[in-house]
Amino acid sequence: MEYISTRGEYGAKASEAILQGIAKDGGLYVPLSFPVLTKAELEYLIPLEYYERSAYILSKFLTDYDPEDLKTYTKKAYARFDGDPAPVLKLDDETYVLELFHGPTYAFKDIALTLLPHLLVGARKQLNVKEKTLILVATSGDTGKAALEGFKDVEGAEIVVIYPADGVSEMQKLQMQTAEGKNVHVIGINGNFDDAQSTVKRIFGSEEAKERFASMGYSLSSANSINWGRLVPQIVYYFSAYLDIVGTDEIKMGDKINFSVPTGNFGNILAGYYAKRMGLPINKLIVASNQNNVLTDFFNKGEYNANREFYKTMSPSMDILVSSNLERLLFELYDRDFERIVELMEKLQYDKAYYVDVEEIEAKLSEFVAYYTNEADTLEAIKYVNLMFNYTLDPHSAVGANALYMYRDDTDDKHKSVIVSTASPYKFPTDVIYALEGVKVDGFKAVKELNEITDVEIPKQIKELDSLEKRHTLVVDNSEIEETIYKLLEK
Ligand SMILES: *Cc1c(COP(=O)(O)O)cnc(C)c1O
Repeated sequence: MEYISTRGEYGAKASEAILQGIAKDGGLYVPLSFPVLTKAELEYLIPLEYYERSAYILSKFLTDYDPEDLKTYTKKAYARFDGDPAPVLKLDDETYVLELFHGPTYAFKDIALTLLPHLLVGARKQLNVKEKTLILVATSGDTGKAALEGFKDVEGAEIVVIYPADGVSEMQKLQMQTAEGKNVHVIGINGNFDDAQSTVKRIFGSEEAKERFASMGYSLSSANSINWGRLVPQIVYYFSAYLDIVGTDEIKMGDKINFSVPTGNFGNILAGYYAKRMGLPINKLIVASNQNNVLTDFFNKGEYNANREFYKTMSPSMDILVSSNLERLLFELYDRDFERIVELMEKLQYDKAYYVDVEEIEAKLSEFVAYYTNEADTLEAIKYVNLMFNYTLDPHSAVGANALYMYRDDTDDKHKSVIVSTASPYKFPTDVIYALEGVKVDGFKAVKELNEITDVEIPKQIKELDSLEKRHTLVVDNSEIEETIYKLLEK
């Protein structure tokens, strides 16, 4: 399988796409085509374990990797999870929850970021890379810790994570500040996620920066969902959830289902779209946003406008106004006409906005519907699901649940639906308790209280956070990020 850039560059191998993270022309790598799985292949995957399903689907895209190596990688990555990496729970006859938060950092980013380091090490070997790989990550909260865990002490890699010092939850911040490993660096910034992301993108595009890193013995790569190696592992859980439900005989092979997906950088739900292109019977993909509803306007009005107020919400991992992966969807919308993508991305860069024909979206991307949920309704959704089903959602997953409920109110769609649950409620205990009890409790008190009022077990790593040393407390201004990185690496 060959990879091409959304902005026109042609002909990279999977290992090259993964190692570089972003194409030289600034575009995002996509596969030349989408392999389609036959019904027989889907049947074959039903009895297999998650890591085997993953290796099978990966092997369709990562054709320059040895399939046996892929199996070793997925086995190692998913052994770090607490049981099944992607279990499906039933709420009622029409509704399921796909839990993606049983990895080392209790958010769905672990699904890809436990695997990406293996894919990267494999790529370095294949391409005979001598210099070190520097992973630069901008995070809205969860990617940072998951990447730090994944890349900790990985041979040949050094990692720098940049996060908004005031824009993540208390638990997320502690998780990053206490990160261990000889090769990890963490920088807090006085700014929001979009500031962090645009700085990282600028560094990737700067020849000067690249030369300076090269002189220090590094070449750059990304662990953000712009990296193909982040997206491809995410395709797997859509298949896996479907196969699990078929396995219970509640649907027949070929019946369509819906997925409601909490969305920020559009990486999670884009993987669902790719799964559909590969033949997975998906009816609707529900794009669930929080108050930062730039994607809702894109799908409903054809208007992508990042010139708007930025809200800090209780679902911080979706507090994003520039959704990088939408570029990959636009590429499909315009039948892979890269010139139009270059045009739109220039508009985005200079005007922070672009417009597309909403009728074209409806005609060609008809599997998408989009809803957003404000803060009050997020709290309501947590409370409602807890009352009705004795199930506790984190605020991100609650945004997903609420979008599904709104969609059902608007339509008479009877397809069974899966809420993609992206984080453990223990990452956001203060907000979850506020939703359930109407009181504000902070920090580890909130963790204990949540354990008392729900009977969900406290994840081990959350328990430990209280006693770990804060190793990374640096906070800098936006303008200082690049110099700070050089300094950290020189140490
Ligand atoms: C990152 C994240 C999301 C959004 O995923 P995208 O790929 O950015 O759309 C949703 N929920 C949680 C908990 C996350 O960490």
